[in-house]
Amino acid sequence: MYEEKSTQSGYVVDVFECLPLVADVRHCAERHHDIELAAAGNPVVEATITTGYTTVEFVVRTMDADEISNLFERLFPIQRSLTGDGNRRSLDILSEVTPLNRTEVPAGTSVYDWTVPPEWNVDEAWIRDGSGETVVDVATNTLHLVNYSVPMEATLSFDELEPHLYTLPEMVDTIPYRTSYYERDWGFCLRQNTFDEMDRDETYEVRIDAELDEEGSLTYADARVEGKSEREYVLSTYCCHPSMANDNLSGLILATLLFERIRQSDPYHSYRLIIVPETIGAIAYLHDHERAMKSVDGGYVVTTTAGPGSFGYKESFRGDHPVDTAARLALDSYDYDQYDFAPTGSDERQYSTPGFRIPTGSITKDKYYEYDAYHTSEDDLSFVSADALERTLEIYWDAIQYLEMDRVYTRRQPHCEFKLDRHDLHPTTGGQKHQPAHLGDESHSEHDYGDDETVTTGDVQDGINWLMFGCDGETSLFALAEQSGLSVLTLFRAAQALQDADLIVPVEVS
Ligand code: ZN
Repeated sequence: MYEEKSTQSGYVVDVFECLPLVADVRHCAERHHDIELAAAGNPVVEATITTGYTTVEFVVRTMDADEISNLFERLFPIQRSLTGDGNRRSLDILSEVTPLNRTEVPAGTSVYDWTVPPEWNVDEAWIRDGSGETVVDVATNTLHLVNYSVPMEATLSFDELEPHLYTLPEMVDTIPYRTSYYERDWGFCLRQNTFDEMDRDETYEVRIDAELDEEGSLTYADARVEGKSEREYVLSTYCCHPSMANDNLSGLILATLLFERIRQSDPYHSYRLIIVPETIGAIAYLHDHERAMKSVDGGYVVTTTAGPGSFGYKESFRGDHPVDTAARLALDSYDYDQYDFAPTGSDERQYSTPGFRIPTGSITKDKYYEYDAYHTSEDDLSFVSADALERTLEIYWDAIQYLEMDRVYTRRQPHCEFKLDRHDLHPTTGGQKHQPAHLGDESHSEHDYGDDETVTTGDVQDGINWLMFGCDGETSLFALAEQSGLSVLTLFRAAQALQDADLIVPVEVS
C-alpha cells in the first residue's frame, strides 16, 4: 500500500504518504521511549505503527548533521549585506540544497516608500597604526566593517578616527555588528580590548576599498511548490547578515532544508520559500509579487533556530491562525517561550501590514533580541550546533504536517448520519471505544480485526462522528479538533476513511 521513497539530499523517507503520522510518532517516542529517537543530532525514527486501519512501517531520517555543519562552515565567512556578490555566493550554496529562482532588482528602483540602495561590495578594509601594524582587518572578520561603509582612504589622528569606531564596553573581547545602510557613513567595529590598546597619540592609516554601485542590484531568491488546495503558506528568511551563525545563517539553512523536504513530499497546500535581505528585500519582494502575496494564507519567518537555549514561538498578529495552531501543536511536548506578536522583529513587519495581512509566526531556538551574543561576534559557529538546528527543523516539519492536515471537507450528502456499516465503517468487536493514543505502543497494536473489512476503533470512530457533524464546507479540522477535544491526527485519519468511502470531499481544492 505504501511505497518506499528516497530523497536526493541525504534523508530517506519511507512510506511517504504517511508523513502526517511522523509528528505523532515522535511525540509517542518521547513518551514511551520505545523508539530510538534523536540520538544527538541525527534523529532517526524507525517505527511500526498500527492504527485502526493500517499497519505501516517506516523510517524517517533527517538531514545528516554533517551536511548542516558543512553549510554553516561554507556560509559563515561570506560578507553579506543588503546587496552584493556575497549574497549571490550564499544563494549559490543554498541552491545546492533546493532549486531557487534568482531575481535582481536594480538599484534605485522604487518599492512602495523605499528605494533599492546601490549595490555594496568590499574588497578590503583595514586600519593600520603608524608602524604599519594591523589594528583591524575585515579579512579576519566581516563584522569589523560597518556594513555599507562608503569608500575611504585617509591618514587620521586617533581623535579623528575615534568617532568611527564601535565597541561593546560590556563585552570587551567581542565585536559588535553595525550597519549604516541609508546614511552614507563609514566605520569599524572592534573589540573594546583592541580599542583600549590603541595609542591615542598615534596616526592611523584607514582604507576601505568598497564600491557603492548605482548600476548594481539587490538580489533575492524564491521557490514555490504547487499543492492541491487553494491555500498557500510562505517560509521567509533573510540573507543580509554577515558572519553571525544563529542570526541568521541558521534561519537560511533551516528554511532551505525545510522547503526542500516539503517540495519532495508532494504537499497538499502550496508553499513558497522567500530568501531576501531583511526589510528592503522583503519590501521589494512584496512589491514585485503584490497580487500573489495578497492571497497567501500565512507563514513563518524563519530566523534564529540553532542556539543552545530554549525553543520559542512568536505568534502571528492573529494569534489563533492555523500557523499559530500548527506551531503550538508541533511544540506541544517541549518547554518553550511564548512571545506575543509585536510589529517589530523581522519581516513579519512587512507581511503583517494592512495591504497584505499575512499572519506569520516564528519558531525559534534562542530568539533574536533574547541572547547575549545577539548581533555580535559571539554569535559564531561555536554558539550554534547542527543538532540544535535539526531539532528546530523537526518542529517546523511537524508544524507543516499539521498545516497539511488542516483541511476543510464537505459531505456529499449532508442530511443526517451516514449508515456506517453500509460503507464498511462500522465499529466492530475489535474496536475499543476511547482507546488511548497508541502509536508505536505494542500493547495497543495487537487487535484481532477479523476479516479484511475496514474497521474503525476508538478515537477514530469518535472522529467519524464529529466529521459527520462538522463537514459543512467551512469548518476546518483544526476547528473541529478544538471543539471535539480529539487530536488533529485522529480527525485526519477519520476524514481519510470517509473520503475513501466517498462520503466527504475536500473543499478549497483547485
Ligand atoms: Zn539580526
